[in-house]
Amino acid sequence: MNANPPLFQFDNTYARDLEGFYVAWEGAKVPEPQIALFNIELAQELGLDAKSLDTPYGARIFAGIESPEGASPLAQVYAGHQFGGFSPQLGDGRALLLGEVIDRDGNRRDIQLKGSGPTPFSRGGDGKAVVGPVLREYIIGEAMHALGIPTTRALAAVTTGETIYREGPKPGAVLTRVASSHLRVGTFQFFAARGETDKVRQLADYAIARHDPDLAGTDDRYLKLFSGVMQRQADLIARWVLIGFVHGVMNTDNTTISGETIDYGPCAFIDAYDPAAVFSSIDHGGRYAFGRQPVIAQWNLARLAEALLALIDPDDLDKAVERVSEELGRFPDLFKRAWLNGMRAKLGLRTEAEGDQDLADALLAQMQEHRIDYTRFFRKLSDAAAGDTQKVLGLFPEENGLEAWLSRWQQRLDVEAGNPADTRKRMNSVNPVYIPRNHKVEEALVSAEAGDFDPVHKLLGVLADPFAERDGLSAYAGPAPAELGPYRTFCGT
Ligand code: AMP
Ligand code: MG
Repeated sequence: MNANPPLFQFDNTYARDLEGFYVAWEGAKVPEPQIALFNIELAQELGLDAKSLDTPYGARIFAGIESPEGASPLAQVYAGHQFGGFSPQLGDGRALLLGEVIDRDGNRRDIQLKGSGPTPFSRGGDGKAVVGPVLREYIIGEAMHALGIPTTRALAAVTTGETIYREGPKPGAVLTRVASSHLRVGTFQFFAARGETDKVRQLADYAIARHDPDLAGTDDRYLKLFSGVMQRQADLIARWVLIGFVHGVMNTDNTTISGETIDYGPCAFIDAYDPAAVFSSIDHGGRYAFGRQPVIAQWNLARLAEALLALIDPDDLDKAVERVSEELGRFPDLFKRAWLNGMRAKLGLRTEAEGDQDLADALLAQMQEHRIDYTRFFRKLSDAAAGDTQKVLGLFPEENGLEAWLSRWQQRLDVEAGNPADTRKRMNSVNPVYIPRNHKVEEALVSAEAGDFDPVHKLLGVLADPFAERDGLSAYAGPAPAELGPYRTFCGT
């Protein structure tokens, strides 16, 4: 008998309760798994023994070649609208859900491997991942978490010792991802598109148990589940826009029921404020441009609404359409309210006043016109709140400066009669100094691909504490030098 307690206290509801929603599967063999990054803080949060996992044995688990006791590895099935076109079957083509654990706070969390080899859903792909995109997801996901934005997390990144062919030979890697679930809009779409209403209902009840337990057994719970998802997505997208994040591939299979950001592929952060900003090399039409994210989120929610129709009113579909459409129509207001509240905090405002939207719009128009660095501007604006307007004015060209807007903003602040030092402090707690600047991320990934992980560690350290300015880190606090040219991201697989 094994005297040691299992490394993971798995309790696998998905495997147990949702037969027919997945295929039980195993990871592919790889030659030489090695831990590149291990997230000790997250391991502790999950109640795991970091000492036992940050080891060669842990590397085998995180590469998918060793199944830890209690795991029930499986590939989930889902569908999805990709760039507007429906794919009736996607699914985990290169991922395995190992199982679920209950974290320190009592929350159920999925532990999933990404890049662990082909599955029945690979559709011709190799099921693998390479170092660059794996570390990108690790770095940006952890940065988003530190910025306070709901997101999947990264527990570990391992290199596999395998050479994978993309544009050329690349080192193989696997990411261990943690999520409050991997339920997607596309998971509902898969069963709805096949007319399997009982399965949609089973999935909806499962989602309710996991994400909206107060709704369990209540009347009208499926419409309320829809409203819950909509509220979470409105809040999430508002947070993205407020921080300057462009997801880049907001397909319905990348839209979670939990409201967490998922699947960091061709994502990026804006430097200059520009609603039309697109970074992804595959987003030719700008469908997923920075400023279109709320509209797209609503479109994705409409696809969820369609998938739930037969549950919302089984006897009268017209009535179901009417009810869910009315609910969906609230999205723009929910988004706007979440965004404006966040913007008020960025501007140092504690109260709501009639002209706030106007005040924000006037600022953004000027920032757009002069291509002002979004993150740096807001950080320096907090100094203006404490009386030093020089820094923020210095970002604008001399003519067409910001004075008029600043005095309007100052008047608005004066109404609240706050203490300027407090206002500055409050603003600094929501306006980061450090975000994952595209060029710094790229620089770190290039080093890692060549075997030097130091820049990745350094970057992770900077991004772990994004609101506290520290000496010697100014290189992480500004936009890319102009000579680097426009930034492009690739859908790293
Ligand atoms: P993603 O772009 O990561 O959101 O993935 C979209 C779909 O493509 C999902 O079904 C993935 O499982 C699948 N996929 C992405 N990359 C690969 C790959 N290298 N091999 C097999 N399937 C993949
Ligand atoms: Mg995806």
